[in-house]
Amino acid sequence: MEYIKPEPNTKNYQQMLDKIIESWQNDPEKSVRRPRLLMHSCCAPCSSAVLDYLCRYFDITLFYYNPNISTEKEFDHRVSELKRLIHEMGIDVERTDEAGVKLGAVSVVVPAYDHKEFLSIAKGHEKDPERGERCHLCYRQRLEKTADYMDEMRSKASESNEDPVQAYDYFCTTLTISPMKSAEILNVIGAEVGERHDENFLPSDFKKKGGYQKSIELSGKYDLYRQNFCGCEFSKAAGERERAERKVFNQEHA
Ligand code: SF4
Repeated sequence: MEYIKPEPNTKNYQQMLDKIIESWQNDPEKSVRRPRLLMHSCCAPCSSAVLDYLCRYFDITLFYYNPNISTEKEFDHRVSELKRLIHEMGIDVERTDEAGVKLGAVSVVVPAYDHKEFLSIAKGHEKDPERGERCHLCYRQRLEKTADYMDEMRSKASESNEDPVQAYDYFCTTLTISPMKSAEILNVIGAEVGERHDENFLPSDFKKKGGYQKSIELSGKYDLYRQNFCGCEFSKAAGERERAERKVFNQEHA
């Protein structure tokens, strides 16, 4: 995969998302149904607060495409936590909350795990720091695959003469909730991918409005597995190095 440098484009992504939600609620033509969202999900903790926020406005399919995760065991553990989370949040089936707002039903799509897909794009970027070019390629790979799936579902809907509204209206990623990830870079890449696929990328900065804090709170409430590295072996090794260095520093300064 060719590295394309994302050009800085600072915008208020949270405000853009609010406006899109409002447009669905206030436009009489749109408000006859809920928009359908294909949401790339990296893990249960990041998805928790995003689901808590968005499942009252969208019908959501989680797309767990993460070939970046270093081992199949870790990949499987994260997806099983994700499925447990939506079940325990009670949003794997359709229901209404105390205020009568419809929630769910959230489904999960899990493409087959193949770590080689990630290693091929990370080649030559093994030593990049977290948030560097390797990460930009990794975001793009995951968003490209999400948009590919969205295209595939749109073609299936039109081939089978299903109502075209069965296709997704938007795609996005839970990754913007992480303080380790730049919402600006993710939104620039997402918009580029969306434009090429002629699909709508939903802008977001899920850290805003206390989103990251909420994810910590929900991770505690549901006792979610919170991994101490982003996903790839390079982030795992960097994290281990940092922890070892901190230990030595603390010992020396005790
Ligand atoms: S650190 Fe995270 S985002 Fe960056 S390449 Fe590794 S898995 Fe992908």
